[in-house]
Amino acid sequence: MSFKPASKIQDLQYFGEFGGVNPSISDSSTYTFLTAKTMSDSFEGHAEGCYLYSRHSSPSNLYLGQALAAMEGTEAACVTSSGMGAISSVLLQLCNAGDRILSSRTIYGGTYAFMKNFMPKFNIQTDFVDITNLEAVEDKIDKNTKVLFCESVSNPMLEVADIEALADIAKKYKLKLVVDNTFSPLSISPATLGADIVIHSLTKFINGSSDTVAGAVCSSREFIDQLRDVNEGACMLLGPTMDSLRSASVLKNLRTLHIRMKQHSHNALFLAKRFEEDRLKVVYPGLHSHPSYKLFYQMMNPQYGFGGMLTIDVGCIDKANDLMELMQKRNLGYLAVSLGFYKTLFSAPGTSTSSEIPEEEQSSMGLSDGLIRFSIGLDNDIEQTYIKMRQCMVELKILESHDIAVV
Ligand SMILES: *Cc1c(COP(=O)(O)O)cnc(C)c1O
Repeated sequence: MSFKPASKIQDLQYFGEFGGVNPSISDSSTYTFLTAKTMSDSFEGHAEGCYLYSRHSSPSNLYLGQALAAMEGTEAACVTSSGMGAISSVLLQLCNAGDRILSSRTIYGGTYAFMKNFMPKFNIQTDFVDITNLEAVEDKIDKNTKVLFCESVSNPMLEVADIEALADIAKKYKLKLVVDNTFSPLSISPATLGADIVIHSLTKFINGSSDTVAGAVCSSREFIDQLRDVNEGACMLLGPTMDSLRSASVLKNLRTLHIRMKQHSHNALFLAKRFEEDRLKVVYPGLHSHPSYKLFYQMMNPQYGFGGMLTIDVGCIDKANDLMELMQKRNLGYLAVSLGFYKTLFSAPGTSTSSEIPEEEQSSMGLSDGLIRFSIGLDNDIEQTYIKMRQCMVELKILESHDIAVV
């Protein structure tokens, strides 16, 4: 039986303070107690249903966390003020000085920089590996490795992680498997495939309106309680707290995620197929030419498709820049980082979001400077978008007009 994440979200029912159809927003940083005894119980974590201080938790954040846990099929979730807030808190919670992380080498630039440049301050080192090579993954594990980290669909190379196989490896060596599922919400449910901890940057598809930065951690009740522990929890002590007004707003956007993901995926598959027929170098996990097409297909909740992200390599940075500028001028989208917006967003990751990764490492992972990353929007007429994008490519001689497949 396949997992139905959007139905899990919709199974939740809310009643606001005055019978509102949305939960009331808790606009308070601190909470009163009728008795001093309940306050001290709260500090020790024994006062069910009581709130203490909004850095610890707030009703609004709990509502959003509950919906995200339902979506990922985990016992619990906590929300953070950014995706990096979620990632840094989880890694610092799981690792002590002397521990090692084993991470995919194709990950979000900020995560890479955090592991490579920041964690060593605490004597926590990271080994980077080609996550699609399971033998190499197993070879790199040593006695100090504590965490196996990957993205389900990686940024920006769109490599797909074999989550079930990685979960088996993690179990064998008693590691925690942490999966950043930002690129494939609803399509892939890592926890149902064996991941211990699932992380999201809510900034992207889940919120979907490019108006905020936010994050989440979905996991067991035990781990989420650890993160929020008053004395030892990274989410409590580092303070990556989401504001209640914002979490109420993200919850409302989450409810249309399934409709948006279907449209993002539909549009991205359409463009990927057409541009592949035009003999451009397109990478999209929904194309049969993608090395992990079958793997994605086996893992996915099929109704949501292969996601909204694709890349096209136009050969060199000058052509990439010219194309992005022209597409923006023709209102085909924005030359901007980030993803999951209603408009198409494009950027050249080699010089932007992945610029933290040194050039030699970029080329060893196949990240060329002519690579454009697209987050395909919710365009109502994707055929028209295709024709206009193709026109830009012909004008810039990225496509010769005789290359174009007849449509
Ligand atoms: C954007 C992003 C992050 C970081 O999230 P923020 O909300 O910007 O802090 C982490 N992982 C992936 C895959 C991302 O795309």
